[in-house]
Amino acid sequence: MAKTYFKDDANLDLIKKRKVAVIGYGNQGCSQALNLRDSGLDVVIGNIDDEYLVRAKKDGFQTYSIKEAARKADLILLLIPDEVATEVYYRDIHEELQAGNVLSFASGYNTYYGHISCPDFIDLVLVGPRMGGPDVRVRYENKEGFVSLIAVEQDHSGDALNIAIAIAMAIGSTQGALMSSFKEETIIDLFGEQLQGMALYTAQLAFEVMVEAGCSPEASLMELYVSEEVSDDWRNCAKIGLWKQLRGHSTTSQYGQLTRGELSAGEDTRELFLKVMDDIKSGKFSREWALEQKNGMKVYDSLVKRSLAHRINQVEEDIRKILNHGKESAT
Ligand code: NDP
Repeated sequence: MAKTYFKDDANLDLIKKRKVAVIGYGNQGCSQALNLRDSGLDVVIGNIDDEYLVRAKKDGFQTYSIKEAARKADLILLLIPDEVATEVYYRDIHEELQAGNVLSFASGYNTYYGHISCPDFIDLVLVGPRMGGPDVRVRYENKEGFVSLIAVEQDHSGDALNIAIAIAMAIGSTQGALMSSFKEETIIDLFGEQLQGMALYTAQLAFEVMVEAGCSPEASLMELYVSEEVSDDWRNCAKIGLWKQLRGHSTTSQYGQLTRGELSAGEDTRELFLKVMDDIKSGKFSREWALEQKNGMKVYDSLVKRSLAHRINQVEEDIRKILNHGKESAT
């Protein structure tokens, strides 16, 4: 069992005496900064001068340029997208780090792939919520909590793990902070995202097959995901269990799922998953993505364009009209 830490394991005093800078006031930055402040920490925001900075000011934070915030703080949470973090780190943060500072990431990506290399006189930790930014705030306010992965890459102070646990609890990871590593967090995160991509293409392929079989596009999409029945099934997987939740389906459905479902999980799929995993572990995916950004994101742009040009997008809009009409006529 992965070692897991809870509220009782945290000593918030370890971070309450520090000046905290949250760098980036986006999805994670905004929610984590608000949660840290409500947990009694002294938080400032570092962001470039745009509407996110305005939002941080409106939320009552003292705001600074990224460089200035990094200079003022002795605990820095770097909460900007991974693809820009390296440039921002070397431009605005690296030179500002002092002995005894703590730098905390929400993702292991740049450290694991060697894009960011920090001085050895700081603690380098990771606190990565398994939760989208907005829910990090909502669940903190509702006292529901969420799970985070935590890791220590450099322990200069000898207290880095306790600091990571304290950060995790202060942002609201009260359902548990699971001990991980920068490597594991990166692999899990990328593999999970890429698996989700496979599910999206599979749904699109299924839509095409259903329409070719003479089913109406609208009914097909309702069945596939728009009615949210499938989202409920996945929620039940989390709450009841991947296979245990099947008991809530008819026996015809269960038989179909158990026999036909298995056809998609044979050796070919295992080979595919192993290749995807290998590209992540070897750094092939990371190098490809860095090159793509350097080359002006042409492949990315064309794939986004292609996905949004698929017929499925128009059918979704038609269904929204039907559903909105239904909602209006019901009131
Ligand atoms: P966002 O895209 O929401 O972050 C936006 C923030 O980054 C804004 O403050 C934005 O400022 C700033 N930013 C963007 N580009 C630049 C730039 N070139 N220079 C300076 N600042 C910039 O990111 P997330 O909150 O989604 O992700 C932050 C971290 O959290 C990442 O490491 C991610 O992997 C991790 N994470 C994310 C999760 C999620 O669900 N989203 C879950 C767990 C971890 P502005 O727009 O003002 O430029």
